[in-house]
Amino acid sequence: MIIVMAPGSTAEDLERVKTKIKSEGLDYHLSTGTSRTIVGVIGDKKAISELEMHCALPGVEKTVRITEKYKLVSREFKQENSVIDVGGVKIGGPEPVVMAGPCAVESMDQLMEAAQAVAEGGAQFLRGGAYKPRTSPYDFQGMAEDGLQMLRKAADKFNLKVVTEVLDQRTVEEVAEYTDVLQIGARNMQNFQLLKEVGRAGRPVLLKRGLCATIKEWLNAAEYVMSSGCDDVIFCERGIRTYETYTRNTLDLSAVVAVKELSHLPIIVDPSHGTGRRSMVSPMAKAAIAAGADGLIIEVHPHPEVALCDGDQSLTPEEFKKVMAEIKRMSAILREE
Ligand code: PEP
Ligand code: MN
Repeated sequence: MIIVMAPGSTAEDLERVKTKIKSEGLDYHLSTGTSRTIVGVIGDKKAISELEMHCALPGVEKTVRITEKYKLVSREFKQENSVIDVGGVKIGGPEPVVMAGPCAVESMDQLMEAAQAVAEGGAQFLRGGAYKPRTSPYDFQGMAEDGLQMLRKAADKFNLKVVTEVLDQRTVEEVAEYTDVLQIGARNMQNFQLLKEVGRAGRPVLLKRGLCATIKEWLNAAEYVMSSGCDDVIFCERGIRTYETYTRNTLDLSAVVAVKELSHLPIIVDPSHGTGRRSMVSPMAKAAIAAGADGLIIEVHPHPEVALCDGDQSLTPEEFKKVMAEIKRMSAILREE
């Protein structure tokens, strides 16, 4: 349920509402807009019904039941788009944000070369996995904490932010220490304990869509993160499993439009995992921006032919710079509209 405070309501009115919510054993989440404050009430359904009956408090304009299971994530709860500020980089604003770098951190040299290309191309974030979720246990699993240190170092040198995946609850704190944004990979989208833990970690969260997840399951996964205390969730469409095998996944760009309709949170697109093919990355990156995505995450490797992971879908630095220039031109045209 959401409680809409009247435009002229006072701080005391809001305090009274908060106290009432707490006294019913419920929790709240505030959204302070330009003209009014909205209080999202979360918790047990029965207690919410009780509260609804006794909510005629001064300063309350109305109470509204949110029909969907996801509440804090929904547009019903917050109408304006959320803009997530990561140390001055704004995700969800007029400019698309680009996160780029290798699939996995392999060495300091590889990462420095990649970071330089990413920065020269105009991206804002360096990506790279230090903990890798691999289908086979015999494949390269990532460089763990050494990889995290390298990411931070390379990103700082080129004035970039870091986004990297956290695979399990035990390493949330460690990964959060080095990264600006915590990435939840497709395979962990419904690892609810991990979602709760990253929600408490004090960092924005990039939430990839699960391989077989519906859009609503994905929104509910974001609700886990938000209801654990994190307002800054960014969705990432990375393709889903279908019967098609020519591409690694089927990149669902209609999900960008759907998420924008259903949620106030920003959404970016991963055309690298979404297609699995280098030749398709640039066209689908542009298609994603045309569909309204707030940004992209793209795999870039200085030497894709020797990459330890996902070389076939990684752009070379030159290819990356070319697509970045095209995206820049495209978004300038889109902004003029
Ligand atoms: C990644 O971005 O490194 C990754 C493993 O992607 P996904 O979780 O989408 O497969
Ligand atoms: Mn990869």
